[in-house]
Amino acid sequence: MTVGINGLTKIFEGPEGGEIVAVDDLDIDMEEGEFVVFVGPSGCGKTTTLRCIAGLESPTSGEITLNGEEITYEEPQNRNIAMVFQNYALYPHLTVRRNIGFGLKNRTDLSKEEIDERVDEVAELMGISDLLEKNPADLSGGQQQRVATGRAIVRDPEVFLFDEPLSNLDAKLRKHMRTEIQRLQEQFGTTSIYVTHDQEEAMTMADRIVVLNDGELQQIGAPTDVYNNPANRFVASFVGEPAMNFFDVKHENGRVEHEHFALEISDEMAEMLAGTEELVMGVRPEDLEVADDGIDMKLEVLEELGSDNLLYLSFGDDEMYIVETKPTVEPDVGETVTVRIREENLYFFDDQTGQTIV
Ligand code: ATP
Repeated sequence: MTVGINGLTKIFEGPEGGEIVAVDDLDIDMEEGEFVVFVGPSGCGKTTTLRCIAGLESPTSGEITLNGEEITYEEPQNRNIAMVFQNYALYPHLTVRRNIGFGLKNRTDLSKEEIDERVDEVAELMGISDLLEKNPADLSGGQQQRVATGRAIVRDPEVFLFDEPLSNLDAKLRKHMRTEIQRLQEQFGTTSIYVTHDQEEAMTMADRIVVLNDGELQQIGAPTDVYNNPANRFVASFVGEPAMNFFDVKHENGRVEHEHFALEISDEMAEMLAGTEELVMGVRPEDLEVADDGIDMKLEVLEELGSDNLLYLSFGDDEMYIVETKPTVEPDVGETVTVRIREENLYFFDDQTGQTIV
């Protein structure tokens, strides 16, 4: 199934009569079998968009299509779309078998035996056959998650919607369930939309990432493309962990000046920046390195992550910049650290609009 979102807008009434624009004129076209991941800060409209697609929320304007056919105001039960929620939404008084079978309750064409058979198949697929007669309260978080996913799969939907399905699980189980969901999606080839706060999940699972902010689409593209070619400063700061560093600079004839340092940039880059004066320069933490010669900064915090170290540096004020280094680089807090910027990976943004220039 292809999924089309055209000009989708959802406005809620605010607490004092004002308007909350949760989704603002959103356009996204999803291909058959695609795995699309929505990311963005809390309140940017991810869940509202999913709920509109599921039919749980009625859009203020715009259109939702499945295979080109409009379903904007269709009842949820008439859309063959299954949603997996963050809190699993299992029925506490029903056994696992009946929870999974619940997805089929409207299927008058299936006998009780056929439903049982389908539930058994899905339970086997999800590795929960031995839990079928238990109640949700007797299951671990990971097991409940499997039941919730099983209940979605049993319906053999044309579209899967996942709203942060793994966020209540511990890190190890999350990774495991992540690969399971990917495996299932590959096996069924069902178009899926997945909301997450987890960058690693987004980067590893997505065919394409959709970055939202304030209800508006910021960028849509393959994870590496969004990472390497962010459309604007917001995307640059949101995608990538630790976040990109930003320096307010002035540019003149191939020379970039910051309050505390200056850089000569390539002729090619200077040409692209021609006509701009005030800019924001972006440097990813991995593109800053500790060197003998360069910019002197003060180490405020050292974070040892095992595989690498993060140095939080300042020019003596409140602004912090992050350098990602090998674990063997471990200067003392308070010391001066000299940093070199790898000039081949610089980004420049318009200081007013935030749009990427280079
Ligand atoms: P999170 O990552 O925290 O789940 P989100 O990106 O999913 O956030 P939404 O839940 O879609 O964001 O909310 C978008 C905006 O709409 C927020 O400002 C939220 O407060 C508002 N909102 C959502 N549902 C309602 C509602 N039923 N009534 C009023 N405002 C709402």
